[in-house]
Amino acid sequence: MPEPVIYHIDVNSAFLSWEAAELLKQDPDAPDIRTFPAVIGGSEELRHGIVLAKSPSAKAFGVKTGEPLAHARRKCPDLKVYPPHYSLYVQRSNEFMELLRRYAPEVEAYSIDEAFCDMTGTTSLYGEPIAFAHKLKDIIREELHFTVNIGVSSNRLLAKMASDFEKPDKVHTLFPEEVPEKLWPLPVEDLFSVGKSTAGRLRSLGLGTIGDLAHANHDMIVSTFKSHGDTIWNYAHGIESSALTHETAPENKCYGNSLTISFDVTDSATAKRVLLSLCETVGARLRAAGAYISVVQVQITNNDFHQTCHQTTLPSSTNVTEKIYACACELFDAAWDHTPIRLLGVSTSKATSESYEQYNLFDMDKYEKLSKLNSAVDKIRTRYGEDAIKRACFVENDEKRDIRHMTGGMNKAKRTPKNT
Ligand SMILES: [Mg+2]
Repeated sequence: MPEPVIYHIDVNSAFLSWEAAELLKQDPDAPDIRTFPAVIGGSEELRHGIVLAKSPSAKAFGVKTGEPLAHARRKCPDLKVYPPHYSLYVQRSNEFMELLRRYAPEVEAYSIDEAFCDMTGTTSLYGEPIAFAHKLKDIIREELHFTVNIGVSSNRLLAKMASDFEKPDKVHTLFPEEVPEKLWPLPVEDLFSVGKSTAGRLRSLGLGTIGDLAHANHDMIVSTFKSHGDTIWNYAHGIESSALTHETAPENKCYGNSLTISFDVTDSATAKRVLLSLCETVGARLRAAGAYISVVQVQITNNDFHQTCHQTTLPSSTNVTEKIYACACELFDAAWDHTPIRLLGVSTSKATSESYEQYNLFDMDKYEKLSKLNSAVDKIRTRYGEDAIKRACFVENDEKRDIRHMTGGMNKAKRTPKNT
């Protein structure tokens, strides 16, 4: 049996890199937005301006993904803001995954800009795995005009941690024997699946680094954090006790979008148009990632900033826009108290890479058709732009109350595991 070899390949500042490559394609003399303080951000006029991706020099100013553009501007007054182009990113993502499939026997899309490649047994084909990772990284840069980091290890967990080391355009290894040297000195929040709240609790126990967690008493960690404690204690030792993508992590993954609306919504028809628009992007993201979800949540924030969230579990998993939308509408009807709405959000969770749809014959037929329709629409948008095809209800928009047919850029939620 050959030694397992896993690559985790992560596009550097994906949206910004893809946007930069596109701008240069349109005008080779255009400035490269990767080389100065720039971000991809939502529209400020529509009150939903947050940083979706940042250039390295914006990062040097302390600009963070997910923060309001107004904050980012305070840190960096010369910041240039570029609007997101969702369908372009799906297209680039598809090209990226396609290139990987040309070389790797097994490719697993983990998010729109990340993939695992199982390279086990390819040494006779490509040579030594670390050298080939460098080669593959360069092939991606030359063919697709963006850079990636590649993490190389013998399991997914360590490969993923490795790709997060110094960026951009780098290959890093993190083999089990390198764990004490490379992983243990890192702050505990850097460990996969340790979010803010878990990190806070670990720190209050005096465990500030991954090494501290690794050396902590296993029973104590399990009694404090239950089964997640066992997982993170093993992760701190570089042991992937549960599969990252097929079982544990996808359930923690959530795909969601929200929109702060440029006017207060007071009627249910308008609210549902916003929900549909959000479901369009969420559905497209799920399909791009090959993910299926079984929990749908709707968030309503009224003009007093009071927030209501309702969620439900579907009997079967799906990535069909219409199904997510139908569910969102039901939740909305149950949750809305008729106060004016400022923000609406749709998020989905319990993601898996396989659908386990169990419909009666009538439903199965209907959802198969919808599924085919969805992927046809995705293809058209990928080729001709996201505005090439839209639902009739978005065609006649009154100008002042413009609701885009696909809203909400993608945010960090796309891959940050939720803390439980
Ligand atoms: Mg990335």
